[in-house]
Amino acid sequence: MISVEEARERVLAGIGRLKTERVGLVEALGRVLAEDVVSDIDVAPFDNSAMDGYAVRAADVASASEDAPVRLKVVEHVPAGVFPTRPVGPGEATRIMTGAPIPEGADAVVMVERTREEDGGAVAVIMAAVKPGENVRRKGEDVRAGEVVLRAGEVVGPAAVGLLASVGCAEPLVYRKPRVAIVATGDELVDVTQKPGPGKIRNSNSYSLSAQVLAAGAEPHVLGVARDDVASTEALLARAPEFDLMVTTGGVSMGDYDVVKGVLERLGEMDFWKVAMRPGAPQTHGRIGSTPFFGLPGNPTSTMVGFELFVRPVLRKMAGHTALDRPRHPVTLAHDVKKRPDRRYFLRARVERDGSGEYVARLSGAQSSAMLTSMHRANALLVLPEGESHFAAGSVVECIRLDMEEGTP
Ligand code: AMP
Ligand code: MG
Repeated sequence: MISVEEARERVLAGIGRLKTERVGLVEALGRVLAEDVVSDIDVAPFDNSAMDGYAVRAADVASASEDAPVRLKVVEHVPAGVFPTRPVGPGEATRIMTGAPIPEGADAVVMVERTREEDGGAVAVIMAAVKPGENVRRKGEDVRAGEVVLRAGEVVGPAAVGLLASVGCAEPLVYRKPRVAIVATGDELVDVTQKPGPGKIRNSNSYSLSAQVLAAGAEPHVLGVARDDVASTEALLARAPEFDLMVTTGGVSMGDYDVVKGVLERLGEMDFWKVAMRPGAPQTHGRIGSTPFFGLPGNPTSTMVGFELFVRPVLRKMAGHTALDRPRHPVTLAHDVKKRPDRRYFLRARVERDGSGEYVARLSGAQSSAMLTSMHRANALLVLPEGESHFAAGSVVECIRLDMEEGTP
């Protein structure tokens, strides 16, 4: 039996980034950039108005106020998307909309709320002074042509998608999504559409794992259910080399029909099969060909916790991320918690801020590894170290936030 740390180190050892691909802009969301992105233009591309109003020469309206307005001759109307054709001379103004280019000669914009029209719009009555440059967005003020706007290794969020669009990068180069094979094992399993007969249960793990794989930014491929015999299990596990990673559930403990470890050793190699943790000690790891293999335990919550701790960081590393783990932070226990001292426990809990802003944790329900309801209600796993057995109300422990992405404070 190895520690959680050692298991994590061993599963991550030798994992490299996958190959790269070009994808559409929105498809790049959540991916890691594989090259620097350089802007082909200045953003803003030209000096333009930050307001609807009048483009003026600031000097002309330096004395303007409500009581002493300045009258200017309106020489042109410029909506966004149209380039002005007439310069603004002394005593003149151009009616201008937000985003429209500043005409030659003008150096500031008076917002429309500080103006009124006369002579059917031929004259602008300016009732406020502006400083040179006021309400003008400068060419290149956000990004300069030739500037690196996004660096290789950065994660593409929604703002980055917009930034890529504005600098003309229609097909960013990103790391490929890991393709993950999912195999459930067990003679007792029936599909979700069936009502389980005597002794049978529905296969929930293939679905929860698919969801976890998707949520981790990878691609689930459900290969099906292996019966609890060598031939059936071998037929599915032999497909591992078609994928970037394979996950199975069940069949890895000490039961008479737990054949996964044996098949793994026949087809590939086993690295370890037991980790000092609860839920789910039989966390099997190895390789089939060059494909990393994870034989997660069968109990629904053990499967999910094993995925969180060991598979998810590997998928993230493959996808080019450097932040591999969910945020962890200290929490205060709202009630006593007891455990056996032998292993590290990961208890399902609800973490919330109390009135004083402190994080407080309560168990989210019964902790049997066969139960999913408390996993569903949990937004965190409390990490209770081995060697200890009693945690009194008010003690501070660490938690892993299941509801936060990497990089969330
Ligand atoms: P095993 O390690 O194969 O003995 O499985 C441990 C427990 O998890 C048993 O009660 C199984 O019925 C249950 N189990 C195994 N696979 C699944 C699955 N795909 N969906 C839901 N429960 C499962
Ligand atoms: Mg089984």
